[in-house]
Amino acid sequence: MSAVEIQGVSQRYGDMTVLHDLNLSLGEGEVLGLFGHNGAGKTTTMKLILGLLQASEGQVQVLGRDPRTTDVRRQMGYLPENVTFYPQLTGRETLRHFARLKSTPLGQVDDLLEQVGLAHAADRRVKTYSKGMRQRLGLAQAVLGEPRLLLLDEPTVGLDPIATQELYLLIDRLRQTGTSVILCSHVLPGVEAHINRAAILAKGRLQAIGSLKQLRSEAGLPVRIRASG
Ligand code: ATP
Repeated sequence: MSAVEIQGVSQRYGDMTVLHDLNLSLGEGEVLGLFGHNGAGKTTTMKLILGLLQASEGQVQVLGRDPRTTDVRRQMGYLPENVTFYPQLTGRETLRHFARLKSTPLGQVDDLLEQVGLAHAADRRVKTYSKGMRQRLGLAQAVLGEPRLLLLDEPTVGLDPIATQELYLLIDRLRQTGTSVILCSHVLPGVEAHINRAAILAKGRLQAIGSLKQLRSEAGLPVRIRASG
């Protein structure tokens, strides 16, 4: 069974079609990088997978089922772009809050804080956290409940190189547990060592999909993908 199966999906917002006949699959335990310029349709694709949107046309399945069902939703973790937290809560209180929302045992919270390197800051208010610390907290909330599919939307935007590297190392560790991951980014450098395959979206169309080696040699695609703008 695939972790994600997208077949013939088009998505419209009003008169505007932002995804055109998208076909994409993700194997269990696979890490797929989803690349494209701003506005290419990456977040829309994530929202379809998360069951937050219903496709205008076509079918989306997650773990063999409709992602809008509660059971399937529980098996997904999501780190949105620019995740926000209640600034007055501490790191521990924040994760406990998410654990309650997800009906997962509170006992996981301290372990997770340790895993993402925030145990020392567990009792500090989130408003005192650096951007890198907030993203690590975001990753911890996404993996609460040990989801089988993890969706990460531009997880390293705004992070310095060290914080970026730390976050990718954490993602690598998650991969070893067999979690399937989709990692959205508008830049390729830095991400390539951490993914199995890459899919490139341009103006809502899948331009290419495969290993980076395949994409570079067969499709003759540019080695670098950068945001327009
Ligand atoms: P970014 O990195 O900027 O978020 P993206 O690749 O994730 O880009 P999407 O956010 O999926 O792209 O947006 C794809 C297109 O759909 C854009 O043109 C965007 O303006 C449009 N769009 C997204 N959400 C909506 C909405 N709720 N209503 C109308 N148009 C939308």
